[in-house]
Parts: sequence; structure tokens; C-alpha cells
Amino acid sequence: MALNPVIAACARCRDLAEEWWRLGIADDKSKMRMLEFVFYGHLTDEHPMVHPTALEGCRGCQEAVTTAQFFLPDLAMHRPDGSYVDPARLHFCHHLLEQTAEVSVTGAGAPHLTSGHSFTAHLYHRADHGPTPGHRCSPDRRHSYEVTVELKAPVTLATEDQTMALRIAVSELERDLQYRELERLGTDDEFGVAVDNRFGLAQWVHATIAHRLADGMGSYLRVQVDAPAEGSSPGFFPADPK
Ligand SMILES: [Zn+2]
Ligand SMILES: [Zn+2]
Ligand SMILES: [Zn+2]
Repeated sequence: MALNPVIAACARCRDLAEEWWRLGIADDKSKMRMLEFVFYGHLTDEHPMVHPTALEGCRGCQEAVTTAQFFLPDLAMHRPDGSYVDPARLHFCHHLLEQTAEVSVTGAGAPHLTSGHSFTAHLYHRADHGPTPGHRCSPDRRHSYEVTVELKAPVTLATEDQTMALRIAVSELERDLQYRELERLGTDDEFGVAVDNRFGLAQWVHATIAHRLADGMGSYLRVQVDAPAEGSSPGFFPADPK
């Protein structure tokens, strides 16, 4: 759905939207709810002709409409000036904010910065590792894994701090992931990833690096692992969207 042009043209709306996305990325739901309340007030005062609407299939919308119909004085919300807050309209503001992704600096349409790094990890299969279909183990059980880590995040989030942290985390991994047993990776950390092939390695590298970045940055991280001995297709984490 296209964003209402009145909202797209208003600097205050864009500021609020941007803050809302930032809170969402930081996973701060209570502050998001508070911001929706502020947005509701701004909308009511400045854009009374904009009517946010329900989203088809949203259960929250149905609940909000029901709450609005059965007005309970005890549960009623009021703005600082004492005016009544329509719970349905407040909830719909959430969906209106979702539509701002295209104009928000942190949303999907925002300018992104990409930072990519690659290295080769020389790893061993454990001697007792069973033969996996299609896998031809080398005589000394050694294989090379080409690891590519890419961070593609909105420019407002991919700060110098974060790109630096990424560089350091990747170079430490490059140093640590040499001549170790593949199946032993992930056995002594909190990520709970079983590593026994390129897919597991991609997931484990993803978790290890995301852990070193600010909260929420992991969702902008993508890891690719090429392992010719295992197969011609690379292992991705998150999985290849195709
Ligand atoms: Zn506005
Ligand atoms: Zn809804
Ligand atoms: Zn092998």
C-alpha cells in the first residue's frame, strides 16, 4: 500500500517514523508503543484528515475495534490534554508507521551501506565423522571453506563503530578458524549451532559475528560458505531466499 503523501511530506512524521523503525530494530517494543501514542497525537492535531485503516488479517485490529466499541471508562486512555484516545485509531497508527518503510532513513527503501569480507578457513573433519552423501573426504580430512560475511544495513545504523567491530570480528575468526575440527565448532558456546557442514558453519559464523555487533544488527548480516568438497552450491545463512 502506498504511503499517504501528507505523511510522506511532513518532516515531523518522518522523524517519528524513523525513530519508530530504530526502536523496532533495537527490539524495544514498549518505547515503540509510546512512540505510536505520540504519533497518534501528532496525527490528530496536524493531519486530522488522515485516517489510518485496519490491516486485513491482523488480529490486533479486530481486538482494537472491539475495545473501541465497548467503551470502558476505567480502561480509557487519554492524551495529556485530557482528550479521549480511540484505541482502534491508535492501533491503526502502528500499521501506518509500517507503511513508512519507503521514506524512513532506516526502512527498506533507505540508503544502505554494504561491508563485505572474505577469508578461507582450513578445517578438518573429525576422524569419526560419518561419510555424508556426496562428500569425498580428502586423505588428511582437511578441507577449505571460503567464508564471505556481508553486512548490508541502513547507513544510519552501519556506523563506523559497527563496521569496525565487523572487521575485527571477521579477522579474529579468520585467525581462529585454522586447522580446527569442523564438528567441534559451536560445542562450547551459547549459540547452540551444530556444525557439521557448510550450512552449519554459515549459521555458526553468523551467530558469532552478530554477537559482536549491536543488538539487531544480525538481521542485516549474511554469511556464505563455499565448500567444493561438499557440493557445488554454497551454504547460506540466512538461507538463500530463492
Ligand atoms: Zn506529520
Ligand atoms: Zn492491526
Ligand atoms: Zn571431509
